[in-house]
Amino acid sequence: MNLQETSGLYIHIPFCLGKCHYCDFYSVTAISVIPDFLRALNKEMEMYRNRSDVFDTLYIGGGTPSLLTSPQLEDILISVQKNFDLMAEPEITIEANPADLDQSLLESMREIRINRINIGIQSFDEKVLAFLSRRHSAKQAISAIEASRKTGFKNIGLDLIYGVPAQDMDSWLDTLKQAVAFSPEHLSCYQLTLGAETPLGIRYQAGEFLMPGEELQYEFFINTSEFLEDARYIHYEVSNFSRGMEYASRHNQKYWDHSPYLGLGPSAHSFRDNRRWWNQRSVNQYIVAINAGNLPVEETENLTMEQLRLEALCLGLRTKKGVSFDDFRNRYHCDLFAEKKEMINKLREEGLISIQDGRLYPTQTGLAVADRLALI
Ligand code: SF4
Repeated sequence: MNLQETSGLYIHIPFCLGKCHYCDFYSVTAISVIPDFLRALNKEMEMYRNRSDVFDTLYIGGGTPSLLTSPQLEDILISVQKNFDLMAEPEITIEANPADLDQSLLESMREIRINRINIGIQSFDEKVLAFLSRRHSAKQAISAIEASRKTGFKNIGLDLIYGVPAQDMDSWLDTLKQAVAFSPEHLSCYQLTLGAETPLGIRYQAGEFLMPGEELQYEFFINTSEFLEDARYIHYEVSNFSRGMEYASRHNQKYWDHSPYLGLGPSAHSFRDNRRWWNQRSVNQYIVAINAGNLPVEETENLTMEQLRLEALCLGLRTKKGVSFDDFRNRYHCDLFAEKKEMINKLREEGLISIQDGRLYPTQTGLAVADRLALI
């Protein structure tokens, strides 16, 4: 690890009131387990107490962290401060469901120094929300954004989904228009993907509905990028846009930069010194492991230099800042241009990447097909 490098801390709250039919994240609806989980989480933090990292970001994700009560959230923050070295002015993000965000919860979040809220809006179109089986309405989404602003949040992110069968381009552009009207500092626009085991994935495989084809997905992507850039957002990563780079997610950039991060809670992943490890996925197994005095780690992987290079290239080409040849040589001991000359030239000819000032950049079309760029 670079000595100057700061780390990110991620906490996974694996509970939701109901499962959205497209969701592949680990979460359970057994909310009666929350108190046992929180006790285990506190112990997990104590187990990592002597780490030398200095953290400048904390991300409380899930699941639905906004299901927790104000005292439960406060206890988590107290435990973080007790066990980890947090830098001054850390970025502290919480993910929230619009249905949970009343004024009193929002005020408590501000009091415990949460300074960034990421609200899972997904769409302002009721038809789309129903198809996705979200538990909130468009009206609740609007109230949640307004209440967050009113409480004093100066860094608000909205998550949106496109490429939903119940949605046409007009519906999507209308959702973008409504989102931009609130001037959120950050927008994440994800293309709907259906895991094979999810209820919607099963219905899709049974032929109940069609998903948008490649061409239409491309149109969604390009229209999104153009619409938001016209609205003065920076398209800084395949799915992410910010109103200036100061609002780009500091935490998520650590995942794309191979910076160290520590993940706590079921299924959370960690990375440090070329090593990646992840926790037990099941909340019950997680609690059992911790109560037996063990770290709840399911598996550890030591990445070879070749794996690191490939990851760095794939992740770098998903971001607007691309990949610096010098940084790549220093960090991964590889002359990228010499190694991949033929492929780089081919992708340049196809207009998918460009080279400027010693960096390899994805073009807008390149960002749209970032998964294919990863194959170089
Ligand atoms: S609220 Fe989020 S984490 Fe929970 S089921 Fe829905 S998409 Fe998944």
